[in-house]
Parts: sequence; structure tokens; C-alpha cells
Amino acid sequence: PLYFDTASTTPVASEVIEVMMAYLGVGGCYYNPSSTKHQPGQAAAASVELSRVEIAKALGCESDEVVFTSGATEANNLALRGVALAHASHGRHLITSAIEHKSVLDTCHALEREGFEVTYLIPNSQGWIEPEAVKEALRPDTLLVSLIHTNNETGVIQPIEAIANILMEAGVLFHVDAAQAAGKLPIDLAATPIDLLSLSAHKFHGPKGAGCLVIRNRRQLRLQPILYGGGQEFGLRSGTLATHQIAGMSTALRLATSRRQQDYPYVAKLKKVFIEQLEQQFCIKIHGDRERCSPYIVNFSINGIGSDALLNQLATTVALSSGSACSSGTIDPSYVLRAMGVEGDALYGAVRASFSRYHTMTDISQAVERITAAVRRMQELD
Ligand code: PMP
Repeated sequence: PLYFDTASTTPVASEVIEVMMAYLGVGGCYYNPSSTKHQPGQAAAASVELSRVEIAKALGCESDEVVFTSGATEANNLALRGVALAHASHGRHLITSAIEHKSVLDTCHALEREGFEVTYLIPNSQGWIEPEAVKEALRPDTLLVSLIHTNNETGVIQPIEAIANILMEAGVLFHVDAAQAAGKLPIDLAATPIDLLSLSAHKFHGPKGAGCLVIRNRRQLRLQPILYGGGQEFGLRSGTLATHQIAGMSTALRLATSRRQQDYPYVAKLKKVFIEQLEQQFCIKIHGDRERCSPYIVNFSINGIGSDALLNQLATTVALSSGSACSSGTIDPSYVLRAMGVEGDALYGAVRASFSRYHTMTDISQAVERITAAVRRMQELD
């Protein structure tokens, strides 16, 4: 089938696979970077540090602010639990939104059971959080605000800069889940006062099971670890470093960053043509702000067509998604769209298509043809 579910995961770039292979087998640099007593271990450690520098360069931060994790889920857990548990004596209030990824929402629910209070901001109908709403939710005991950069279901981009500036003035920590933004949209931590940033390699053609949490001013900002053990990653994330994953992630981010000027307009064109061709066939509704949106994601409903039935029809021909993949398997409609006020047929018909630099215009036309045929079949059955 044609794969249009890259917001869920992407293929690993061949350049990245090649780099990763060099860290695995006999004759390769498969050593433990914590074994610094011998030269092979030192070589592995040097490679990890090189990756740290490369990732820091792409994001505009210092290399010792990059803490490697198993992905964005772990980075989000570490950011929220790490700050909350280390600073509980100063306050027990957190602010997030109703449209976060489950790895943020469920971490917040767990913290609520442990005595923290969480405010869940509601987005406007365009799918973004008003900076004023963040300001109004602040309390003297607020420890941290956590918001998604680019929503994984709608692609809507939050007004991160405006919110970051408000929080810097208020002296409240800001965590941003940039899993869908990193490598695709510009992120400059040197210019934007974000304290904590999560990312995940498999969203930008790196390997699954690799990510990082960037902690600005790490020496000043205390976090309580989730994993204890050998004290790797500045004591914040024990466990033998996954050298091949880390090298893969930094290579993928370097590649994505160096290609961004060409990939962004290319993918934007793919999305534009996809929407135009669909609109020639059907009456569709696009969910979320069309301007303030990632070119990599579109979320839409076709008038009168339910998403479950459509995705069933397309299962072997076009891979699309409804809701988020992580909560699929349930028939609940998207909580993200619901929070935006989408209801009725539009809610139950919502489908996400997501794109990548590997798609061609022919892929787009073929996908639209197959979707059109599937919808016509469904309409005939009715
Ligand atoms: N946050 C967002 C916005 C995501 O899209 C995802 C991936 N579905 C995650 C977090 C979780 O990332 P990972 O798969 O690396 O745990």
C-alpha cells in the first residue's frame, strides 16, 4: 500500500542505516561508551559526544544539555516527572493542554494521583492554545507548562515563541514536545526561551527507540531521574548508551536540517496538491488552522464518510490514520478534535494523511484515486 502515515513513523534514511551498521558488529565500534579505561570504550564515548554536539548544533543549544533517551515518550516522562518531583516543595501545579500526546497526558494523570494539580488548557477552534490562556492559568505555585509544538493529529503549530516569552517573564519553566517538529520545522533554542524540549528520531528518518530531552541550563535546573543505575547521562538517565541509535539519530537530524530548505517547500507542495485533488472529488472539511500548520500533516473529513469504514476500505491500498496511532484500536473519536469543538459527522469522519520527502507527486495522485474509488464504493453500498 501507499504509506501516508509518516506522523506515526518514518522509514530510516539509507545514509542513517549505513552509519548505524558501523556500531554493531565485530570490527565495528560496538563498545560501551562508559568503559573509558580502554581505547575502544573511549572511541565509543567520543562518538556519542560527537552526536551530542551535532544535535545541539541543529537545535541551537549546548551539547551538555542533550540527554539521550529511548524516545519522546521517555523524554516527556522525564521532563514532567523530573521537574515535578524535584521541585514539589516549591509548588504542585502544572499546566498543559487537552491536545497533548498521551505520553504527556498520562504522565500528568499519574502526577495528579501523586498529589499534583494539573490545568488542561482548551485550544481554540483552530487547534492552538491562546498565549493569553496560558498567562491566565499561571499561579504562584505553577512549576511547569508543557505544550506540544506541532500537534501529531492536526499538524497545527502552537504559538511557542509568544508563550515562551510570557513564561520567561513569569519565571515558570516551559517544556515543549517537539516530536513532530524536529528536523521538519526550524527550532532555535538560542532564540526561544524554552527550558525543556523532547524529540524522537523515528519521526525524522532516524531509528525507533531513540530520542532526547534537551535541558537548558542543565547545571542549574534540577530534575529527578526516572531510571537509576550506572549514572549515565549526567545521572539523569542510567543505562548503557545505545551508540548505534544515537549515531543514527544525530545523522538523521543533520540530514533533515541540511535538507530543510528544499524539503519543506517540496512537502508543502505535496500537501497542497493532495488537498486540491481531493477537493475536486469531494466536499471535504480540513481540521485545524490552515496557515499555522505543518506541511507534513493534514487532517480532514469527507462529507458523509465515517473514518473507520474508510480506513477499512483502504487498509491494503493507502495507509492513513484516524485519531492517533497510539490510541487506535479503540473506536473513540479523536480527543484532540473534540477539544477543538469538532463534533458529529466531521468528528467521526476525521482522517489524517502525513507526508515525507520520499513521496512523489505520482504517489499523491494515486492515493487520491484510491481514496476516491473507496469512497464511491462506500456510497454505492449505502
Ligand atoms: N509526542 C508526539 C507529539 C508524538 O507524535 C509521539 C509519537 N507518536 C510521541 C510524543 C512519542 O514518541 P516516541 O514514539 O518516540 O515515544
